[in-house]
Amino acid sequence: MTKPRAYSVKAYSAAGAQSPLAATTISRREPGPTDVKIDILYCGVCHSDLHFSRNEWHFTEYPAVPGHEIVGRVAAVGPGVKKFKVGDTVGVGCLVDSCRTCPDCRAGLEQFCPGMVMTYGSDDKVLGGTTLGGYAQGIVVTEDFVLRMPAHLNLAAAAPLLCAGITTYSPLRHWKVGPGQKVGIVGLGGLGHMGVKFARAFGAHVVLFTTSPNKAADALRLGAHEVVVSTDEKQMAAHAGSFDFILDAVSALHDINAYFNLLKRDGNLTLVGAPEQPLAVAAFPLIMRRRSFSGSLIGGLPETQEMLDFCGQHNITCDIEMIRMDQINEAYERMLKSDVKYRFVIDMASLK
Ligand code: NAP
Ligand code: ZN
Ligand code: ZN
Repeated sequence: MTKPRAYSVKAYSAAGAQSPLAATTISRREPGPTDVKIDILYCGVCHSDLHFSRNEWHFTEYPAVPGHEIVGRVAAVGPGVKKFKVGDTVGVGCLVDSCRTCPDCRAGLEQFCPGMVMTYGSDDKVLGGTTLGGYAQGIVVTEDFVLRMPAHLNLAAAAPLLCAGITTYSPLRHWKVGPGQKVGIVGLGGLGHMGVKFARAFGAHVVLFTTSPNKAADALRLGAHEVVVSTDEKQMAAHAGSFDFILDAVSALHDINAYFNLLKRDGNLTLVGAPEQPLAVAAFPLIMRRRSFSGSLIGGLPETQEMLDFCGQHNITCDIEMIRMDQINEAYERMLKSDVKYRFVIDMASLK
C-alpha cells in the first residue's frame, strides 16, 4: 500500500494523562478531492479538552492533541470542493466525518452516528492512529464537515460557538425554550455563559445557578434575569417547583437532585456536562412530579450552521480571554478553579 501524502504542522500535544501539553510536530493528510485545507487562526479551549488530555473519560490514546473549536482560513481546496474557496473564513467543531448513510446521518444528527469521526480521539482512517485536534497550525477536513463563519463576527470570539455554542443551542431548541418559560442554566463556564445568552435570545426568563458568587454581576450582564448561588439552600428553596427547563453544564461531580426539585410537573433537566464520575440520581424528585432527565451531545452539521447564522443575525459571540499556545497548561489549571471569563481562546499565531 502506498503511504498517504502528508505535510507537517506545529501543534501542542499531551504525551500521557499526567503530562502537561508541550510543543510537537504532527502530520496532516494532503487534501483529497473533497477536502478543505485550513490554516487555523484561533482555537477555543473546552473543558472536554482537559478531560480528554488527562484521560478522564478513559479512551484517550497518546500523544493526544485536543481542540475542537477551530476557526481559520481556507488555504487550499481539493478539485471536487464546491462550497469553499481559498481565503474563506471557516469553522470546524467536534466532528470531522460520519458514515453519511445511517438514520442519524440522514436526519442531520451526525453526532449520534455510530461511525462518527470526532475531531480528536477517533480512528484516523487515512493516516492511521487517532485524529488530532485543533491545537495546531492547520487541519484538513472534508468539506461537508466545514462550516461557514458569519462574516462580521469577531473570529476569535466566534471560535467557541463551534462547541460551547452548539452544545447549548441544540438542547434549548430541542426542548423548545421560548417566551413564557422559566429556564435555568447551571454553571457559568464556557458552555453556561452561552446557555445564558441563547436562552435570553430565545425569549425565556433566565436564571443562572452558580457556585461562584463573584460571577453574579457578569451573569446579569450576559443576559440572566436572576442569579442563584447554588450553595445557599434558602436561595434554592425559593425556586422549588418553578422551572420549565434546566440545562446543566457543570464539569464536575455535584448534586443533580437539588435541581430536579426546582422543576415544575413535567419539567425537564438536560445534562450536557460530562463529569468523570457518575452522578447519583434519587428516585423521588423525579417520580413525584413526572419530571424527566435527559442528555444532549453537541449538535449535527445543519444545526451547527443554523446556530452560526443565528449568531451572525443577532450579533452573538463568546466572552473570551485570549491566550498564547504556551499558556495552555496554566489555562487548564484556571479552568479547574472555575476561573475563566468565560472561554480561553488560543491565538494560533503564537505557535509560529
Ligand atoms: P468550564 O468552562 O470549566 O465550566 C464549568 C463550570 O461548572 C464552572 O465554571 C463552574 O461554574 C461549574 N463547576 C465547576 N466545578 C463545579 C463543582 N464541583 N460543583 C458545581 N459547579 C461546578 O467547562 P465547559 O467547557 O463549559 O464544559 C462543561 C462540561 O460540559 C464539561 O464536563 C465538558 O466536558 C462538557 N461538555 C459536554 C458537551 C456535550 O456535547 N454534551 C460539549 C462540550 C462540553 P460556576 O463557577 O458558575 O459554579
Ligand atoms: Zn467542547
Ligand atoms: Zn451515520
